[in-house]
Formats: sequence, C-alpha cells, structure tokens
Amino acid sequence: MTLTAAAPAALLGGPALPQERRLVTAIPGPESQSRMARKDAAVASGVGTMMPVFAVAAGGGVIVDADGNSLIDLGSGIAVTTVGNSDPLVVDAVIEQVRRFTHTCFTITPYDGYVEVAEALNRLTPGDHDKRTALFNSGAEAVENAIKIARHSTGKSAVVAFDHGYHGRTNLTMALTAKAMPYKAGFGPFAPDVYRAPMSYPFRDGLSGAAAAERAIHTMERQIGADRLAAIIIEPIQGEGGFIVPAEGFLPALQAWANENDVVFIADEVQSGFARTGAMFASEHEGLVPDLVVMAKGIAGGLPLSAVTGRAEIMDAPHAGGLGGTYGGNPIATAAALATLRSYDENDLVARATALGAIIRDELTLLQARDARIGDVRGRGAMMAIELVDAEGRPDAALTGRVAKHCHTAGVVVLTCGTDGNVIRLLPPLSIGDELLREGIGVIAEALAAN
Ligand SMILES: *Cc1c(COP(=O)(O)O)cnc(C)c1O
Repeated sequence: MTLTAAAPAALLGGPALPQERRLVTAIPGPESQSRMARKDAAVASGVGTMMPVFAVAAGGGVIVDADGNSLIDLGSGIAVTTVGNSDPLVVDAVIEQVRRFTHTCFTITPYDGYVEVAEALNRLTPGDHDKRTALFNSGAEAVENAIKIARHSTGKSAVVAFDHGYHGRTNLTMALTAKAMPYKAGFGPFAPDVYRAPMSYPFRDGLSGAAAAERAIHTMERQIGADRLAAIIIEPIQGEGGFIVPAEGFLPALQAWANENDVVFIADEVQSGFARTGAMFASEHEGLVPDLVVMAKGIAGGLPLSAVTGRAEIMDAPHAGGLGGTYGGNPIATAAALATLRSYDENDLVARATALGAIIRDELTLLQARDARIGDVRGRGAMMAIELVDAEGRPDAALTGRVAKHCHTAGVVVLTCGTDGNVIRLLPPLSIGDELLREGIGVIAEALAAN
C-alpha cells in the first residue's frame, strides 16, 4: 500500500491520534513543568533535554504531551521512528514476542529472529557479495564493533574519521566524533590511534568531490600511511555535524582508495539508513559498496537495536567469543526490526521519503529565495536541513537557537545540528501527512520572520 497525502492510515498505531497541531496550554504547560522539576531532582543533569515537554503518546506525525498539546514531529526521536511511532506491525510483533520469551542471550541459546534480521540486512545493504551480520544495542556499540572487526581483519590499528563526523559517546566513538562541546569536553583521555581527515563540505569549501577526496587522501597518506590504517569511517550524509552532503564523487574516490590500500571502508549509516534519504541506504545514491555498514536508529521502529553488516571475510575475522554482548540482538528488538523492515517494504516508504523530501526542498527553497540568512538548503529525501548564516555568511548559532525555540513554543519539534550549531534539520517520520508537514515548515517560516 502506498501512503497518500491525506491518509497515512496504515502507519497510525495505538489510539489513532488526531493528526493536528493543537495547543491547549503554553509550551511547556503546567503538567510538563512539574514533571521537569521531578526529572531535575532525579535524573543526572548531563542527560540534557531539548524541549521541556513530557510525551505521553505519539503516532503518525504528532507527539502528544502531558498537558494535552499535540505537537508536529519533525524529528522522529532523531531519525529513529522513521516508520512512525507504534507502527501497528511493530506493536503486534513486539506483543507476540514478549509473550513467547524476552531473553535467552543469543550467545547462549540462539533464536530465529536474530538470524532473520541478519539475513535481511545481508540482502538489503549495498552489494551482492557474501555478507555476515552482528547485532548490538546502540549506534555507538555497533561503531565500536565495526572498528574492532576492521582492526582484527587487517592486523592494523589506525582509524580515520572526518571533520564534523559524529559516531557516538562511548570512549572510542568520542575519539571518532569531531565536536568537543557537548560530546567530548571533560571526558578524555580518548582512545588512541584515531585521526581526522578533512570532509567535503560544498557550501563551505567549494571543492569538487575529486578535489576534496584528493585533499583527504593526501592527509591520510602523509599523516598516517595506508600501511598503518585499518579503516576509514564516514557518514555518507553527516548527521549531527550538519547534514553535510559531500560533493559528488568524494565518497566513491575514498572508497576506491581504501579498496586499493587494504583499508576497510566503513559507512556509518546510523542516521542516514533505512529509507530516510529516499533510498534504503544513503550509500546507494552514489553507488557505494562499503566493506562494512553500521546501522541503528531507523532499524526497529524505536526499540534499541544496531547492526554491523559486511563482507563475510572481514566480518568472520574475529575469533568466536570476540564479538557479542548480553543483550545484542535481543528477541523483542529483532521482532520489532523484522516488522519495521516489512513496514518499509509494504508501505513503500523509500518512495514516501522521496515524496516528503520533494515537499521539504520546495518549501525551503522558496523560503531561501526571500531570506538571505538561509545560506544553504541541503540533504536528501526526508533528511533535509537549512544552514543559517549572518550578513557576512558566518554561521549564526544565535539565530538558529531562536528559530528552534520559536518552533518549539509554537508546537513543532525541530532539531538543530552542525559543528557551529547553525543548522536546522528536518527528520519527519515517514508516517506524517503532507499537510501536517507543510504546516510544520510554515511554522519554521514564521519563526524566521519573527527573528
Ligand atoms: C546517533 C548516531 C550514532 C550513535 O548512536 P547511539 O545509538 O546514540 O549510540 C552513531 N553514528 C551516527 C551517524 C549517529 O547519527
């Protein structure tokens, strides 16, 4: 079934929520404010929250808060609920599994769900070579394991990540992540033998993909040497770093260099994967065939699950017992993932992401034509962003903060990102209707006009 503009009904789970923006109190309302106070007294303050609003229900394109406000969701809990919240297929699969068994530990007594997810990812990820998959719990844990696997299989230790890259908050992934504040500041020392190469950032560097790749390869050859380099890890479209889409040809050139030099090419598709960009994986837009693909966020409709899928000879390098963990590939999460993958397919969500992306690009491009502070409109599919700049073209984080705040107060959940904090990103669930999406973008336009 294909979703129509008016009726994303197949993805509306739970108590089907009215698909509307509805404010019945100020944001945050009194109920959310009192829950925030309780949270502040109980939860570590390092676990920050973007909006001081407590969710009680969500589905389609809305999140309902504790005061009864219905907010337009343009964030999907950071690209996680790509199939929507409480997709009926996911809900049913989870209930069925939770009644059968909740955990055995796959490395003690295995079960089918894990194997079926592995088979599906081996089939869905780019390339028709022989593949193997291992499952984990979070994006960061999967990234760590991809690096472990690459090191073991090459016998080398150095790893290259890129400017503006984001790979997580564990010790090794903090080292891979570029941005100090808030991700790294005060948390060192970081894992050794991690290096950074320059990214292709067309809006800022004006370089062609080939020129940017030459620059990055020069850095790797001169500062590390391919003979020491185990892996390159890169997001095909950067997420937290600012939704940076590298210039055409950059990624294929890096992949070719990696292939020639026995360097494992790892695509971190944690944010860009699973239909988000109008392809099952963002790597597909440039015909990349990564050696390893790291996946998480959109994989299981909101349940915690992550995966590394890659070339069988690389994946099989580590000895038995070298990979795994207590919870990795938990049976409830794998049941949810199988249902989520079915939903992508049955609801034709790759096409839906493309259609939503066209709406977003049109609306944002119109906005840009009358507002010079929108320096760049970029992204693919339902992963789009605007980069805000001042009159001199410098990043304008203050404006970005005001615009986001305005949207939140007006009942639209938007997220910011970017090394300079000056990017507003749109990651709507693919279960949102066209009109609600347009209304949400309209609020961003109002926010810009008022700021
Ligand atoms: C979110 C993210 C991660 C980390 O995932 P967690 O599940 O938060 O650990 C890694 N890489 C990318 C590209 C991400 O967007």
